[in-house]
Amino acid sequence: MKKCWLELADDLSLEDLPADATPGFDGDSDAAREATDRLRDELIDLQDRFHAQGRDALLIVFQAMDTGGKDGTIRRVFSGVNPAGIRMARFGRPSANELAHDYLWRVHPHAPARGQIVIFNRSHYEDVLVVRTNKLFPEPVWRRRYEHIRGFERMLADEGTTILKFYLHIDRDEQRKRLQARLDEPDKNWKFDAHDLEQRKLWDDYMAAYADAIRETSRPFAPWYIVPANRKWYRDYAVMSIIVDAMRRLDPRYPEPDYDPKKIRFK
Ligand code: AMP
Ligand code: MG
Repeated sequence: MKKCWLELADDLSLEDLPADATPGFDGDSDAAREATDRLRDELIDLQDRFHAQGRDALLIVFQAMDTGGKDGTIRRVFSGVNPAGIRMARFGRPSANELAHDYLWRVHPHAPARGQIVIFNRSHYEDVLVVRTNKLFPEPVWRRRYEHIRGFERMLADEGTTILKFYLHIDRDEQRKRLQARLDEPDKNWKFDAHDLEQRKLWDDYMAAYADAIRETSRPFAPWYIVPANRKWYRDYAVMSIIVDAMRRLDPRYPEPDYDPKKIRFK
């Protein structure tokens, strides 16, 4: 597989990674779209087997800055996949009841069952991101959460869940354009949230929080992929190819029948 994500070396910050990179495609959006379409056909086939077999579970986490493209990526990558085996869980501002519990309490019930793919649209990572940048809890509280999160994901992995985590990487200028589009295009007005403007002012704090979260919690059993996401066609290709590659490795197969189909006759 073409390598289509970025890695955060210890001495780099997210700002050093080019959000408009298109490695392997050299700006050729048609070629990337065709490749994505071919991979989607394969994903649909793999997911059918995965669901029928019911042996493994797959958790796919999406995190990004506001306008980073989580919804669009999910829509495009998974369109056509059999809804029987797939579900999306969205994590927004916690309710009073959720806040009265530990921060993983609302997350764990959404973990995928065997045979299921669950997509997290935001996740428990908000509890070390927005919580940190907005100072919702003091540093000692969020800092020890990296260890909890590693443990939580380790447990899920040990019990049979494959975990893939995507950070969709846009830059500040791309966010400005996308926020402006939400004001300019009537079909996008509904997505505009004044709260996003407040969060934009905290851009540098978010980049530091993301970098730490990625470094602290990327493990072989739950890797982070930093996907250049300024170009939507490249982002879709990169996410699709990483998911398809992970599913190929699981090599799902239809279960063998426990009867001989040739011996059954209908009258
Ligand atoms: P959206 O994804 O546009 O629906 O926005 C959801 C909002 O919920 C974002 O502003 C998130 O930062 C916020 N959010 C998600 N999880 C948490 C959390 N654990 N604590 C505080 N805010 C959160
Ligand atoms: Mg929003």
